[in-house]
Amino acid sequence: MTKDYKFTWAGFLFVLVHLTCLAVFWVGITWTAAFLCLFMFVLRKFGITGGYHRYFSHRSYRTSRFFQFCLAFIGGMSAQKGALWWAAHHRHHHKHSDTEEDLHSAKLEGFVWSHVGWVLSNEYDEYDSKAVTDLTKFPELVFLDKYHFIPPVVAAVACFLIGGWVGLLWGFFVSTVILYHTTFAINSLCHMFGSQRYATGEASKNSLWLAIVTMGEGWHNNHHHYQLSARQGFFWWEVDITYYILLTLNKLGIIWDIKHPPAKLLKPEAMIPSARAAVGGAVEPEPQIARAA
Ligand SMILES: [Zn+2]
Ligand SMILES: [Zn+2]
Repeated sequence: MTKDYKFTWAGFLFVLVHLTCLAVFWVGITWTAAFLCLFMFVLRKFGITGGYHRYFSHRSYRTSRFFQFCLAFIGGMSAQKGALWWAAHHRHHHKHSDTEEDLHSAKLEGFVWSHVGWVLSNEYDEYDSKAVTDLTKFPELVFLDKYHFIPPVVAAVACFLIGGWVGLLWGFFVSTVILYHTTFAINSLCHMFGSQRYATGEASKNSLWLAIVTMGEGWHNNHHHYQLSARQGFFWWEVDITYYILLTLNKLGIIWDIKHPPAKLLKPEAMIPSARAAVGGAVEPEPQIARAA
């Protein structure tokens, strides 16, 4: 399959956001700017992982209509288009993972396409509204999706008002670029490097390092196997910061009905033989594939 890279204004802005970050070499950094960068990363990362991904794409917990709007707005501040666009394309990825139909298969199209190529292409500007009819019934979500430039502009203005030009640079531009590449790494690197626990039939992997920089999304093979779970690190040692935030929001009564993986999936028998020892199962030899003489 040949993939085209065409000029789009969105792609132009994407490159411009990256180039703007080079200004740090002239402007330097302040404590306020460093704090803004970290705060805007964590807040907006949660908007993507806890909002766009685990809530809008997979409905792995429930919440009020007001907090649902907050999640769409916070995720929207990441400049990764609207929640409906994001969820529709992500549901498509799960349905067709690593097949010809997949929009960003690292296995079939390689790293560059799966990481940024599909985002820069103008082929996927629209989304299939039939894939997100559970979300399009909320006019406020449709509005935010249509005018998806509003949340990032609000985020940028807030950074400027708090930290001036250097605050804008670190709090918005640098933090947005880090957000982009940690999010895209799940589509690219997390389908290339790591280990598999479940035989999902595609290339999704579990990776501790990616789980740390993505606030829990690196347990991607777990997630592909059981998408409904709000918890993607299935065991206590699988660091999942998004899940810890969701637990806190649950304690505060802001979200409820958090979905967990069924107990049977945590048993060694549910896993591929090479993954069983890590969860206390008997070490079993890999099945030998008979070779023709
Ligand atoms: Zn997913
Ligand atoms: Zn995936």
